[in-house]
Amino acid sequence: MVSWAMTSADHSVAPRHRGIFCNRTLNLRSVRAIGYDMDYTLVDYQAEAFERMVHAQARERLVSEGWPVAGLEFDPGMVTRGLVIDIELGNLVKANRFGFVKRAMHGTRMLEFHEQRAAYGQVLVDLSEPRWVFLNTLFSLSEGCLYAQAVDLLDRGALPRPFEYASLYRHIRARVDAQHLEGHLKAAVAADPDRFVVQDPEAALALLDQKAAGKKLLLITNSEWTFTSRMMAHAYDRHLPSGMTWRDLFDIVVVSARKPAFFTEAGPFFEVVDETGLLRPLEGTLRRGGLYLGGSAAQVERDLGISGDEILYVGDHMFGDVHMSKRTLSWRTALVLRELESEVGALEAFRATDQQLLTLMTKKEGLETGLSQARLDLQRQRGGYGPAPDATVPALEATVHALRGHLVALDAEIGPLAQASTALVNPRWGLLTRAGNDKSHLTRQIERYADVYTSRVSNFLFATPYAYFRSPRGSLPHDPTGKDLP
Ligand code: IMP
Ligand code: MG
Repeated sequence: MVSWAMTSADHSVAPRHRGIFCNRTLNLRSVRAIGYDMDYTLVDYQAEAFERMVHAQARERLVSEGWPVAGLEFDPGMVTRGLVIDIELGNLVKANRFGFVKRAMHGTRMLEFHEQRAAYGQVLVDLSEPRWVFLNTLFSLSEGCLYAQAVDLLDRGALPRPFEYASLYRHIRARVDAQHLEGHLKAAVAADPDRFVVQDPEAALALLDQKAAGKKLLLITNSEWTFTSRMMAHAYDRHLPSGMTWRDLFDIVVVSARKPAFFTEAGPFFEVVDETGLLRPLEGTLRRGGLYLGGSAAQVERDLGISGDEILYVGDHMFGDVHMSKRTLSWRTALVLRELESEVGALEAFRATDQQLLTLMTKKEGLETGLSQARLDLQRQRGGYGPAPDATVPALEATVHALRGHLVALDAEIGPLAQASTALVNPRWGLLTRAGNDKSHLTRQIERYADVYTSRVSNFLFATPYAYFRSPRGSLPHDPTGKDLP
């Protein structure tokens, strides 16, 4: 029997960084089935080690094609999830919730503000256009980094054959894709899982709680059977009661699910009949304890007799897991965003400075209002129209001059604080969820498609299987603030 000592910490209150944050009200009591993605959801990886290896393997392949990339290194800070590749211009950009570009990098060089304005002043990021490639998961980091580095080489004329930025992207994409499909990568991870997998003993208990509360648990992963079985055993078996394996947790396991097509198409299910992965077409309906390949979400709903709003799907891929399951089948959705823990930590650490910044900004707004008013009075006074101001022209000119001086001094104070607030966690790109003062494009997608979001599956331990997540009221610019407008 496993000792729960390791998980006996108090789970009645979640620390803020382990919270489950709610966009749309979700009552876990009315959820009858919980589907889980595996990679970066049930199984967490050391993203830096994983992506460094993908980068190295893709690079090796490029070296064999004559590319001068042997000296390149994966840089974990160069790109983040939620950035968008602009394959037309060879850039990586960060957009806000409206699609306005707030920061951009050409190759590995951050653009100056005037360059960014010239490139994107009239352009909105619209992910339905082929020009834009969204970095959906932590698996996207090696691709983003390698593309940025390859753009530098292309600009220097160092590649063995001509490319446009778009064809260069497709070449890099194909090389990274191949690493995931060809087996060396998975073999290396499976051979040394301790190096790549982050253990989270609490995740097993969270799943046991949900199962014992009567939820049907489903595992639906794009990974193939042998890798799935190796990773799940490594991450779960040691944390389960003796005699139990990860397979006992799940009513149904689906491997090689081909998400997002799994959510939109009616692909056939196959049964995986033995450990080697031997297949036979599924006859009849899905059975409890079954192990399947392919298939479709529609058949899962049908065979389990469960409707979309009774299934919660938990995954880390913004598009393949969360966007598509929500949009096509109205499943309830939870996004696992591992980076949320450092994000929340950084926001907490920055709170005092943020408060200072807010106070200075309020002061600035007051001065700006005063300046605008003084300028208008001056304009009326000189133009000889409107209500007669109390002050004379020279007095108003002096006020305008003084206020301008105050504002310059205040800006000098605000500048470094504002700069620090946009460089939290990652100096190039700042927080994942923010873009400047606004919400990021990633945040907009989370709001639209994820009913709840959280940093890891084990956070459900704090919530219990009976939790009722309520969405916040949401604030609007016209909400009362107690402050008079200028
Ligand atoms: P899931 O998150 O459990 O659905 O599994 C994700 C699977 O997709 C893993 O097996 C990854 O290796 C694989 N994967 C991630 N990125 C790529 C890619 O660019 N091409 C092909 N497979 C990928
Ligand atoms: Mg995943």
